[in-house]
Amino acid sequence: MAEAAKKKKVIVIGGGFGGVFGAKTLEKLGRGRLDVELINRNNYFVFQPLLPEVAASTIHSADAVVPLRQLLRGVQVRLAEVMGIDFAAKTVTVVQGTRRAPVDLAYDELVIGLGTGVDLKRFPGLPEHALTMKDLADAHRLRTHVIGCLETADVTEDPDAKRQLLTFVVVGAGFSGVETVAELRELVRRALKYYTNIRPEEIRFYLIEYANRILPTFPADLAAYATRQLEKSGIEVMTGVGTKSATGAAVELADGRLISTSTIVATIGNGPHRLVEALGLDMKWGRIKTDRYMRVPGLDSVWALGDSALIPLVDAPGEDPAHYAPQTAQFAVREGRQLAANILAKIDGEALKHFAYTSKGALASLGMSKAIADVYGIKLSGFFAWLLWRGFYLSFLPGFAAKFRVGLSWLLNSVMPPNIVQIQSTPPATRYLYYRKGDKVFEPGMLIDGFYTVTKGTFWLTIDNPETGEHFEKVFGPGDHFGERVLIRTALRTGLVVALEDGILLFIAQKDFTRFARAFPFLENYFTDYIERTFGGTDKAFAPGSADRKTELETLP
Ligand SMILES: Cc1cc2nc3c(=O)[nH]c(=O)nc-3n(C[C@H](O)[C@H](O)[C@H](O)COP(=O)(O)OP(=O)(O)OC[C@H]3O[C@@H](n4cnc5c(N)ncnc54)[C@H](O)[C@@H]3O)c2cc1C
Repeated sequence: MAEAAKKKKVIVIGGGFGGVFGAKTLEKLGRGRLDVELINRNNYFVFQPLLPEVAASTIHSADAVVPLRQLLRGVQVRLAEVMGIDFAAKTVTVVQGTRRAPVDLAYDELVIGLGTGVDLKRFPGLPEHALTMKDLADAHRLRTHVIGCLETADVTEDPDAKRQLLTFVVVGAGFSGVETVAELRELVRRALKYYTNIRPEEIRFYLIEYANRILPTFPADLAAYATRQLEKSGIEVMTGVGTKSATGAAVELADGRLISTSTIVATIGNGPHRLVEALGLDMKWGRIKTDRYMRVPGLDSVWALGDSALIPLVDAPGEDPAHYAPQTAQFAVREGRQLAANILAKIDGEALKHFAYTSKGALASLGMSKAIADVYGIKLSGFFAWLLWRGFYLSFLPGFAAKFRVGLSWLLNSVMPPNIVQIQSTPPATRYLYYRKGDKVFEPGMLIDGFYTVTKGTFWLTIDNPETGEHFEKVFGPGDHFGERVLIRTALRTGLVVALEDGILLFIAQKDFTRFARAFPFLENYFTDYIERTFGGTDKAFAPGSADRKTELETLP
């Protein structure tokens, strides 16, 4: 008990590359002297470099993750969401389990390794419509979405819809963008033989990059090789062009070109983590400024590492990003180890060491068993680079079980047909949707989907009854709503809604909206009155087969 009381409590928040390798080294170096706890919102560590392979079905989603408890023997793992930090009281506030009651945890030393967030706000419509590639759920969602596009494209008879479904756009050509587009191309290429109504020439892939070349961290000749390989596999690489906006049906480029697509993957927009941003620490480029020992200045017992930290590599770093540790797994792992050694040194009253590491190089997979590698100054491309890529990531993957599973998946995937099982995942019941001027929100004959509130812009509703010749129209602005007749009956839309200018709608899925409104008689009365006032007899006149439709509607999932 007396010995336990002497132990210093070190809390590591974030179970990514930085946090995990930091906690592992703390446990090893401080065994018996430190009480190490790692807090993460999932009970697993995500090996982010393999996410594009999860999205492409090359490996199973469980293969790209490792349970934290298996990785961190001797470390207390806490599955919880960090909600705040009180630096004066030296406590971290978390919520955990189903009760979701806040719990305060005291620390002697705190390591912040929460990674980054995604910030796409600069591009209207991208936050609402782009898929991201940050965690396991993103990769899984992307895979499901792409297979869904193939399923619908195979059966649709509408050529425009088919073209849109078979056009895939990846924005950002850093290595996650390049690997994502290459892996998705592989998935679609291999899956195509099962979709007999889709011809290969109907598939379009675009990689869009604002800079004048792809893969800025690689030498220019390797990047040029990568561009050629991607183009050879049918991916159109567009450099020197930014993305302006996006909707659920298209992406607009800065030069005015419009690409009709149902799939936009954004690998750009690394932004500050929301919680980190709210901590009131000294930040630069969305990252916590640290000194060369990874301490957060002004806070004696607080350290930061990984993507959320800005760690200088030189004494007087300026505005040059090369003066700081880059946001890569390779660096985060080394930061974790050095930071752990520094915490021990501090406790023992010894000298701390600057963080110093030189990148050993970079690797990027290009699909079709090709890759590029720039390792220890040696440049490689093609099949051998791809073998190196696979070998390197296999060795880098923590834990024997994970290595074995990924190795086996790679082997099986090379001889087995691709896994095209689509495990449905429902999009969030409430979400924002961005529309460009002239876009249709819905049109007559479409199955009702939900309720819409205008948050920005104006939208024009028209209803025409071909039987009676009656016409109804109304313009909706911010604060107005439409689609509420889902509460009353019809299962098919009778009106056409078009965006009169660029705008944003808050969408609430039909079932959730109906449940919510029906739970509050006030709301149900409001909507019933509103419909009567706004549409009067029009609504009744236009409802097709309403009684039957209502039954059908209520059984929808
Ligand atoms: C698709 C992709 C491919 C990549 N490929 C490579 C590559 O090939 N080579 C390379 O070197 N780098 C690569 N990277 C970059 C690399 O993965 C990151 O630099 C690295 O993951 C950063 O580690 P980290 O520990 O700082 O953050 P992360 O790995 O992001 O970990 C942060 C952790 O904090 C947790 N967390 C966040 N908020 C909370 C909260 N409030 N409460 C509890 N837990 C929380 C998260 O769940 C996560 O587990 C890639 C990244 C991506 C997205």
